[in-house]
Amino acid sequence: MVIRHGRSGEFLGCSRFPKCRGTRSMPTGVKCPKDGGDIAIRRSKKRGKAFYGCSNYPACDFVIWDKPVAEVCPECGYVGAEMKSNKTRGEYRRCIKCANEWDAPEMQPEAVAV
Ligand SMILES: [Zn+2]
Ligand SMILES: [Zn+2]
Repeated sequence: MVIRHGRSGEFLGCSRFPKCRGTRSMPTGVKCPKDGGDIAIRRSKKRGKAFYGCSNYPACDFVIWDKPVAEVCPECGYVGAEMKSNKTRGEYRRCIKCANEWDAPEMQPEAVAV
């Protein structure tokens, strides 16, 4: 999935567009671990780099730099993790509340349309 820009703002679209028209709306349903606000995508004016911050900004300054996913932390049970990856480990997750890290779940093969 890649981030695309449409009339209604940013959304996630399949990278094989237009062959595949699968899309997903932007907010991932992840809540701020500090005050329960919605984590929304933002873009820094200087470099144009996207990041994710609490919707209660500036009252709450919680930000993360990697895309959040609504996955449950096996350590503290919080729903919300950063999608991280590196060469040695591959894809993994980090809890946005307790910073516990775990391996990403195996990707489910997509249903094949006949
Ligand atoms: Zn917050
Ligand atoms: Zn956790």
